[in-house]
Amino acid sequence: MWHQLNLFESEPQIQLCYNPRRKGSWLVTWKGGQAHVELPLIFRFAPSEIDNALMQWVTLSQNKRRAKNKLLLKQWESIIFGYLRSPHLAIDKKHLEEEWRLFNLKQAQSARIRKNRYKPRGNHQDLTPVFSWINEMFFNSKLEAQLTWTRGWSGTSYHTQRKDEKGKLYDLICISRGYDQPDMTKEILGGVVYHECLHIVIPPKIAEGRRFIHTPEFKKAEKLYPWYKDWVDWHKNVLPVKLRNQKRKPLKTKSWLSLKIKSLF
Ligand SMILES: [Zn+2]
Repeated sequence: MWHQLNLFESEPQIQLCYNPRRKGSWLVTWKGGQAHVELPLIFRFAPSEIDNALMQWVTLSQNKRRAKNKLLLKQWESIIFGYLRSPHLAIDKKHLEEEWRLFNLKQAQSARIRKNRYKPRGNHQDLTPVFSWINEMFFNSKLEAQLTWTRGWSGTSYHTQRKDEKGKLYDLICISRGYDQPDMTKEILGGVVYHECLHIVIPPKIAEGRRFIHTPEFKKAEKLYPWYKDWVDWHKNVLPVKLRNQKRKPLKTKSWLSLKIKSLF
């Protein structure tokens, strides 16, 4: 089961996964700037200083060859191993297994709830046909992703990976609510959808322990969009105005709520 820790924005993302079969060691796999760390189940009960030691270790392990890092890695390792080998860890197995079962159940539940919350249909625009259009134009309709709008009036759109209730990873594209305008065109909305799709296809690169998202390769691919200039222009000049105007109005939650209540009867 995974949970995600993001220490600082520029730092790598670290996903933790507990494997009951793993006993005295942990495994780190790097993929697209994300560290996937498989841990013994006992880490589920680790105090925060052990979690922290582990995060430090994973971050430093990206650059193992640096002499300074080697020394620091050893220090963090000894703290982590100290925890793993301490006698108070003789928590009985049944208790651990029950905890594990409940934990999995809860995770699956929240994954299901989260997935049900995605609504590609906004107040004025539907993301599904735009995504299909972009998918067909650039990716032979092979790309798969869940689509939704940001809940608040944030100007940020993003792509991320989430786990479904079975623990399978899927891509989620979340588009800024600011694009959900009555006068929005397919070409402009397609620009931001295409940008987020590219994040699925061109994963971030790691260099010197830093994560580069918009690489030269990315920027080159981005410009293949026929309405690239129109989209960038709208994003830079119109979106901020739309967001400013929206923030002055009260959120539409009330009417949405009453609609929901009405549909109950
Ligand atoms: Zn981006």
